[in-house]
Formats: sequence, structure tokens, C-alpha cells
Amino acid sequence: MTGAFFARQQYRERGTRFRLFPQAPVLASIGEPETVWIAHPPQSIAPGPADNRMYVVDAIGKQPYWDFPHLPPYRGPSHPPVLPGPDGHFDHLTDFSSRAFMAAHMYGTVRFVLDVWERYFGGPIRWHFAADYPRLELVPLVAWDNAHSGYGFIETGYSRRDEQAPEPQPFCLNFDVLAHELGHSFIYALLGTPPAQHTRAEYLAFHESASDCVAMIAALDFDSVVDRLLARTHGNIYLPNELNRIGELSETTQIRLASNALTLDDVPDLHTPVAQLSYPQRHHMSLPLTGAVFDMLVDVFQHLLVQDGLITSELDAMSRPEVRVADEAAVQMAFDRAYTGHHDDFKRALLDARDYMGKCLAMAWRSLKWDAGYSDVARALLEADARMFGGAGREIMLESLLWRGITFPFRSGQPAFRERADWVREMRR
Ligand SMILES: [Zn+2]
Repeated sequence: MTGAFFARQQYRERGTRFRLFPQAPVLASIGEPETVWIAHPPQSIAPGPADNRMYVVDAIGKQPYWDFPHLPPYRGPSHPPVLPGPDGHFDHLTDFSSRAFMAAHMYGTVRFVLDVWERYFGGPIRWHFAADYPRLELVPLVAWDNAHSGYGFIETGYSRRDEQAPEPQPFCLNFDVLAHELGHSFIYALLGTPPAQHTRAEYLAFHESASDCVAMIAALDFDSVVDRLLARTHGNIYLPNELNRIGELSETTQIRLASNALTLDDVPDLHTPVAQLSYPQRHHMSLPLTGAVFDMLVDVFQHLLVQDGLITSELDAMSRPEVRVADEAAVQMAFDRAYTGHHDDFKRALLDARDYMGKCLAMAWRSLKWDAGYSDVARALLEADARMFGGAGREIMLESLLWRGITFPFRSGQPAFRERADWVREMRR
């Protein structure tokens, strides 16, 4: 069992309950929200909800923040803070269309994602705006068709992209969007913000990729997401599914696919001058890096399945994305057979792969500065794997990054291929 597993068990005993939608509630597959435990004892989360790191202000008729001087704290009219139930928990709110539920959902989601990632970072991440604001301001419902994070705040409006939807969908109920926006806050805090004249397209694209990775890894902390993912795919998770389709109804007009097949040759040049770069292009440029991380996660998962004797190395090899269409049915049949009666074993491998990837990303990001490019990210990932896992994932990382056209400086003296049994064991440290 991993350390992260024990941490989660402790939250269940001592934490505060919230009910969260792991994915946008408009998706057909999403029913009831899932109960989660935030790593703060009941009674310690104040009305708002609010704690020592963040607070919700349910502003009335607010326009989005932009630049100075339009920044927090919000001082206009607002709805009263949401109160906890008599036992200190916030899972007593049952009207999912109420403003009170939405305020609690926004706080609960951002707190949940912060809890998940602080476990990978090994401790708290200081806000990048800490010199001016001690706490992050969360505004759930602004009059806007977008969501963003900035200096001291995350605020969310409504999606209006689906003409068929009966009414605009509030982004404060969208886990991916909130997790993505908190991801931006991590990167601002860890890498710093470049001086305006030094901002590069690569930095902006990395921001988007890292924020999508924050959402993807955190989504795997929901039991319901992991159970549904495995029940639907039987472990063949290279197929399009809810995990690799990030930001449903998100800030961009198109859905971003973590399991995309894009290389750097397919997206705008990383050296494009920032002034010529649109928001959609910035997101597009992020996809090869996000795709590489998704491939690493799945590769590690499959290697753990091989290690555990749950799938054969032949199935591992033939299930890669480059597999011929004609083979897809055979691959799925093999996964169907392997998965039957082994849900818990598959789940353990997926959670171990998730924790491996989360720890590597967290350590890699910690070592980067605002002038980092994709090559620096690649090098930092390899170094994180080497330091924490003895180079266990080196071959997987090399393969995934190089296939995307992401190169990095090689060093002499690195270990070559190792026996799989050795290095796969390392990943479970
Ligand atoms: Zn973004």
C-alpha cells in the first residue's frame, strides 16, 4: 500500500465531507455527486466555505476581474456565506442547482485538488500572490462565459457552447475546469511569472499542459472515476474515455484530448512570437506535451499489469496507440478476458501509476523556472524519475517524449535498459 493510500484513509476518519461532481454534471454518465473528505477536521472550515488558504465570496452581478486595479478582494454585494451542517460537514446541501451548493462545490473541488497535489509536492505550495493576499478568493458565478485564475483569485462563469443545453452550465460545477485553473496557480507559484517582454509561447503552452495534467491526475482520486473507467474499458484506457477527454465544456471552444496523437510538427511552432499567438493556439501547442504525460501514465499502468501477471507483455505491446485498426477488437477481447474477476487488481495498478506520475510531475515542476521550455520539462521529468524511482520509468519517458518530437539533452553515463521486473518494482516505492 502506498503512503498516499493511508493519507486518504485518515481523511475519511478525520476530514470534512463535501459532495463533488467528478465531471460536469451535464454528461449523461454523471449521476449523483460523490462524497469526498477534505483534509480539514469538521468545525475547522468556516462559513463561506472558508479556511486559512481560500474563501468563497458568492458575488452578485459581478463582472470578471481583469488587470490592476480590478483585483481582489471583492467588496460589492454578495449572498451570505454558506453554513456547514450541524456536524460541521458540507454534504447537507442537496439542491444541486442552488447557489449554496455551487459555492460549496467550488470550495470543495479546489480544496480537494489542493489536498491531492500537496501530497505529491510533499507539503504546502505558497500562493504566488502571498505577498499581497494571504488567501485565494473563489467567486463561483460571475457574469461571463469563461473561467480564469489570476492574482489572488479563481472565478468562474457559465458555458454557453452547447446550444442544446437547456440553460448555460456553471463552470463552478465542472471539476476539470476548476482543477485546471488551480493548476495555473501552482505553475505561477512554482515557476514564477516572466517579465512581459520575456514571455515565450512555450511557457504559455506549458502552463496549459501542466494545468490539464493537474486535472487529469486529480480526477483519478475519485473512486467513482477509477471504477467507471475500468468498468467501461476493462483496462484498455488508450481508448477515448472520460479520463483522457479533459475540460468538457471548458474555457476553450474545443474539447482537449489527453490521448491525442499530435506531435510538435502538428501544432504551431513553439517559437511563435507571443503577440501572434491566440488562446486556441496556446492550448493546441500544449497537446503534444499533455499527450506524452498521458502515454507515460498508461504505459506505467500496463507495465504494472504485466508485472502483476494480469496481462501478457504481448498484449501490452499490441495495445499501443499505433496499433492497427484491424487489431483493436482483438486487443479489447484480450483486455476483457484479463479484467474479468480482477477489478481490484487493475485498480491498484492504476492508482500506483497515478501516484508515480503525480510525484514525478510535482518534483519536475518544482525544479523549473519561468524560462523553461519543453526540453527542460522533459529533462526535469527524467531527473525526477531518477531521483525518486531509480530511473524506473526512464525508457517509458524517453519513448513517450521523443515520439511527440520533444527532445532533451542526453547525458553520458546514464543507465541503459534495465530488466523490467527490477524497474517496475521501483515504481511502487
Ligand atoms: Zn488554462
